[in-house]
Amino acid sequence: MKTLNDFNFENKKALIRVDFNVPLNDEFKVTDATRIKSAKSTIIKILEDGGSCILMSHLGRPKGREDKYSLKHIVDKAEDILGVEIQFVEDCVGDKAQEAADNLQPGEILLLENLRFHEEETQGDKVFAKQLSELGDIYVNDAFGTAHRAHASTTIIAQFFPDKKCFGYLLQQEIESIKKVMETGEKPVCAVLGGAKVSSKITIIDNILDKIDHLIIGGGMTFTFIKAQGGSIGNSLVEEDKLDLANSILEKAKAKNVKVHLPVDAIIADGFSNDAKTNTCPVNQIPDGWMGLDVGPNTEAQFSDVIRDSKTILWNGPLGVFEMPNFAKGTIALGYAIAEATENGAFSLVGGGDSVAAVKQFDFEDKVSYVSTGGGAMLESLEGKILPGIAAILE
Ligand code: AMP
Repeated sequence: MKTLNDFNFENKKALIRVDFNVPLNDEFKVTDATRIKSAKSTIIKILEDGGSCILMSHLGRPKGREDKYSLKHIVDKAEDILGVEIQFVEDCVGDKAQEAADNLQPGEILLLENLRFHEEETQGDKVFAKQLSELGDIYVNDAFGTAHRAHASTTIIAQFFPDKKCFGYLLQQEIESIKKVMETGEKPVCAVLGGAKVSSKITIIDNILDKIDHLIIGGGMTFTFIKAQGGSIGNSLVEEDKLDLANSILEKAKAKNVKVHLPVDAIIADGFSNDAKTNTCPVNQIPDGWMGLDVGPNTEAQFSDVIRDSKTILWNGPLGVFEMPNFAKGTIALGYAIAEATENGAFSLVGGGDSVAAVKQFDFEDKVSYVSTGGGAMLESLEGKILPGIAAILE
């Protein structure tokens, strides 16, 4: 696996695919700069070697050239974070981009305009990828968030740099974190899967059953399992057509010696609202008219015990409707247990959409070993897929 440390960038122009797809407010100010901060160590290493950086990224999903999706809006914030002046060019290919790249000196940074202003980017167009490739000497992919897309700048471009391509530090860290859970994780390995639906997690479950010792199930998908086992779930979220699937997952887990932990009690509500009336009951005895929106106190305690005994922990998906304060308690308790296990030496990886949001919202970000920056890319990695952006560097 070629990484940044395999290259000396002195007098070289590094063409870096970063993920600067950051949220902007109505005044076009960056509201969460995590992704820019995540690219800093890669950029600084190259500048310190005596090289220059040409940064390419997408922002949003523009239809053609749309000013609100211009990467010019992020220049000030990126300059603050990197501590280096940034030159901006209003296209990513063509004469202007080529001229700006040609004139770039060691120690300087050039940011190209939004790649997706050209539809060839998402089409994975080879001619467009070649045009991009002519801007730099060494290709660095540091955009985990788009590594699952075979786009021109994330995948296709790599073929024009047969020996001069590598992973940036962020992408390297993402790959190594997943490996630490899926391949080299110290036992016992525990996966916590929450979130809304079994159907969106089934491929992940299938793939990880061979690699884990404990599977904790929470969130909305709990109730498909409980109903499949003959429990009463009232009006809780359920996928009626996945009942057999739920049972077959439990059987498969048993055959593979994976211990499955389902909730034993639930916080129930008489409506899907933070203001709804609430109560606590056994998870398989939910009355009609009520729905389970969080795990109950006995479940919290049982799950926490399993987490504390684990040496490797993967967390994907909240245990309840954490967006509503009255149903966030189970997810917060899980966060505390994972933080404690991590402090005691366990490796913990949080990845995929809503669990990352929960970790940030409840301030557990610095208390777990690694928080993945890629939603879809992380989920596809957990499903066992080789991401095209990663494969293109390894080829
Ligand atoms: P996912 O994207 O599949 O990880 O699902 C995350 C969503 O699941 C969050 O928005 C949660 O509010 C939701 N969720 C978690 N627990 C429940 C539940 N018991 N009932 C309904 N939705 C839930």
